[in-house]
Amino acid sequence: MNELDIARLVALDRHRVWHPFTPMQEWARATPLLIERAEGNYLFDVAGRRYLDAVSSLWVNVHGHNHPAINAAIRAQLDRVAHSTLLGLSHPTAIEHADRLARLAPPGLEHVFYSDSGSTAVEVALKIAFQYWQLIGRPEKRRFVHLGQAYHGDTLGAVAVGGIDLFHRVFGPLLIDTISVAPPHPFRHDLTDPEAVRDHTLGELRRIFSRHGGEVAAFIIEPLMQGAAGMLVQPAGFLAGVAALCREFDILLVADEVATGFGRTGTMFACEQESVAPDILCVAKGLTGGYLPLAATLATSRIFDAFLGPRSAGKTFFHGHTYTGNPLACAAALASLDLFASEAVLERVQARSATLGRLLAAQVRSLRWVGDIRQRGLMVGIELVEEGTRSFHVEQFIGVQVCDHVRTNGVILRPLGDVIVLMPPLSITEDELTVLVNATADSIAAVCQK
Ligand SMILES: *Cc1c(COP(=O)(O)O)cnc(C)c1O
Repeated sequence: MNELDIARLVALDRHRVWHPFTPMQEWARATPLLIERAEGNYLFDVAGRRYLDAVSSLWVNVHGHNHPAINAAIRAQLDRVAHSTLLGLSHPTAIEHADRLARLAPPGLEHVFYSDSGSTAVEVALKIAFQYWQLIGRPEKRRFVHLGQAYHGDTLGAVAVGGIDLFHRVFGPLLIDTISVAPPHPFRHDLTDPEAVRDHTLGELRRIFSRHGGEVAAFIIEPLMQGAAGMLVQPAGFLAGVAALCREFDILLVADEVATGFGRTGTMFACEQESVAPDILCVAKGLTGGYLPLAATLATSRIFDAFLGPRSAGKTFFHGHTYTGNPLACAAALASLDLFASEAVLERVQARSATLGRLLAAQVRSLRWVGDIRQRGLMVGIELVEEGTRSFHVEQFIGVQVCDHVRTNGVILRPLGDVIVLMPPLSITEDELTVLVNATADSIAAVCQK
């Protein structure tokens, strides 16, 4: 694209496009990067420059961009039908995909409710849980419990079970009342031993469930890793402990695997690593390989069956989004699942995760400004500190600075506050991991030294 065309687009972008999670005044002062095309693990801007997509286009891309198998599946579906509704009709692609997904999911999750985003998957989960207790004659079970600093999306129900002050505080007056428990993370506690932190948090939960369990509908959790909180890793045994408590107190367990699902933590779903089968599972982001918006909320037969009855009984789940179960998106999702099998993706992720861990230990761990490195599979958070455990001043926006700098090294990253997130596509190669870690170490040193 020539410079005039680019300048015109930049001007239009500033005027017309209101970007998500973006301070727009500042945005208008900088020159935005315009991505025109992509290939494998790389994005190309309008000037033809190449960047490693090391955050998977915001945690969604799985097998790389422009993958011939996913492209072909979408094209084949496009030649049949681009969209038809699931309200009053069905279609083969959604049916086949729902069957495949339910077979892959933790045991018991037999029924698939489609929607379009992680936030809607969570809304659906909360409303299903709430209505379930009404339907079985326990309407007093209507509250939700969640972890502090949780992130479950940006719609109001999802925000209510979230706990990231910066995003959520302003909407406080609009939200349903929930119960929050501090996340089990040593870096944010006086306790330093992960097992002590785990037992402390499980003890807190037990106290809350003992006192309020009779009025609690569900506990919602991002299993193993709280993503948007800054990649907070949960201690081993925590998730299993939570699942046991939910069973003991008859509280539904909702696993939000919007970020962790589809191999990101090294297994297809994070829940598998602690042999946990939730009552409700939310998936989105990586569901279509990162190609099209699609989400699903899976539920057990215990829950699904409570909604059965004659139309006149009014047990219907009255919820649905217009593009629910879109055929193009379902075709992409099916093709993505095929690739998991044909390319042995999960085995490769295990190997790549080990490599990434080694590279981080060798090149990043020892940097003076690195307070903590947290990793599960190919999800990584690098927490930057000014000295020891003292945080950088918020006004320094150190994470933003590092990620701006790393672009000059041909890598796209996006921070969460002072945490640098690495979340490459599962298709990343060993060589690309080396480039990624070198560039990251380089930029941390260059920016923090100042
Ligand atoms: C991103 C995310 C969501 C929200 O998904 P959207 O598609 O952005 O609405 C929900 N839960 C978790 C854990 C997420 O990481």
